[in-house]
Amino acid sequence: MKTVKNYKFWFCTGSQDLYGDECLKKVAEHSKIIVERLNQSGDLPFEVVWKPTLITNELIRKTFNEANADEECAGVITWMHTFSPAKSWILGLQEYRKPLCHFHTQFNQEIPYDTIDMDFMNENQSAHGDREYGHIVSRMGIERKVIVGYWDDPSARKRIASWMRTAVGIMESSHIRVARIADNMRNVAVTEGDKVEAQIKFGWEIDAYPVNEIAEYVAEVSKGDIDSLVQEYYDTYEMIYEGRDEDEFRRHVAVQAGIEIGFEKFLEEKNYQAIVTHFGDLGSLKQLPGLAIQRLMAKGYGFGGEGDWKTAAMVRLMKIMTAGKADAKGTSFMEDYTYNLIPGKMGILEAHMLEVCPSIAEGKIGIKVNPLSMGDREDPARLVFTSKTGPGIATSLVDLGNRFRLIINDVDCKKTEKDMPKLPVATAFWTPQPSLETGAEAWILAGGAHHTAFSYDLTAEQMGDWAAAMGIEAVYIDKDTRIRDFKRDLQLGSIFYR
Ligand code: MN
Repeated sequence: MKTVKNYKFWFCTGSQDLYGDECLKKVAEHSKIIVERLNQSGDLPFEVVWKPTLITNELIRKTFNEANADEECAGVITWMHTFSPAKSWILGLQEYRKPLCHFHTQFNQEIPYDTIDMDFMNENQSAHGDREYGHIVSRMGIERKVIVGYWDDPSARKRIASWMRTAVGIMESSHIRVARIADNMRNVAVTEGDKVEAQIKFGWEIDAYPVNEIAEYVAEVSKGDIDSLVQEYYDTYEMIYEGRDEDEFRRHVAVQAGIEIGFEKFLEEKNYQAIVTHFGDLGSLKQLPGLAIQRLMAKGYGFGGEGDWKTAAMVRLMKIMTAGKADAKGTSFMEDYTYNLIPGKMGILEAHMLEVCPSIAEGKIGIKVNPLSMGDREDPARLVFTSKTGPGIATSLVDLGNRFRLIINDVDCKKTEKDMPKLPVATAFWTPQPSLETGAEAWILAGGAHHTAFSYDLTAEQMGDWAAAMGIEAVYIDKDTRIRDFKRDLQLGSIFYR
């Protein structure tokens, strides 16, 4: 499936005509050099497009409206090379509707001590002009990213690259459509939510279908198509029979192949990028979709178990934000399952009944066929593996009744001390920051769910910026979290976001 458009970002330099043509010529030259270098660096996931210097109210307004209208433009990066009286920016900013980044940089890196004169000062006054511009953006209450640093410093470019992925998440959020195959699990609170408000806030379309409507697509998949996909499974993964009859095993695997093909056709035809299922509402499906959902997640679809459409949309969003990342380690639906509470080895064993995305796997991936302890269908086939180590983020979007809150926890993924040969599901194991005790305490105080959208490839800053752009509260649980301060954050949030 196609995950992301060929987005571009516009680079708009501000100035004014007070300094004469000679100065404006240099402003344009300098900003062209910066754009060229940004593009050549290979550090940015999307192209930067140079735009003519903005010096008047009319031109600023026109440029921002062109950015709105250009489908490929995912955001505007602004920089004031000289002074640019900020009232000229009011109307343009007022009408602008896409992500905005204020890159506070300066063309020259070092003060030219021997030659500096007042002409140089007037030409190179970002320190001055960017403050005037920043003032009006703040006064107008516009959400934007401010990135400070020298333009040819890799760390500044890295921050722009990171913001670009947030901007794409903001742009793409309103293109997420979730197919609800079954409702939320009965009596469960945290997977519920206001779907109308979710569409208003995030742009998500969340539609329900009777399970048998998608089951018909599965029933119509040809035997030939199933056979060739089963062959692909057998070529890709290791079959772990554990004493089961090999023909019977293959028949169980083939059921999942039919589900993968049928579900994908349904989602493609109806233009959905995320899906939820429910083990208690499977209609004529022979097995709970396990291996099939795992494969669809790896292709970029969002997923949530037991009807959890919020997490399904978040998994899709985070897959879009990380799409095409060169060194990506993976993004998945996940669930907090069971703890290790041994001092020095504390952590949460993460898994789900079946549906963990193999993009996070490390090492070999196997297929097992095992009974599901819940529901009344035949034993489903599933991919089993353990996950990569290193830092990641776990996010949970909850509906507090009158508003949404995004909870973001920095976590450290580790190998479990020993193998778990009897566990027939894929797992990850992580310790939340700042510790299991404080991390879990803060998570529970914030009302975080047992389901999460997890990624190795995004930062809390990126997700928090996305939440800010959506106008919802984000709370961070990380190395700096102290419960006393965290409770105050929640209290302040309840006033600010009421
Ligand atoms: Mn679950």
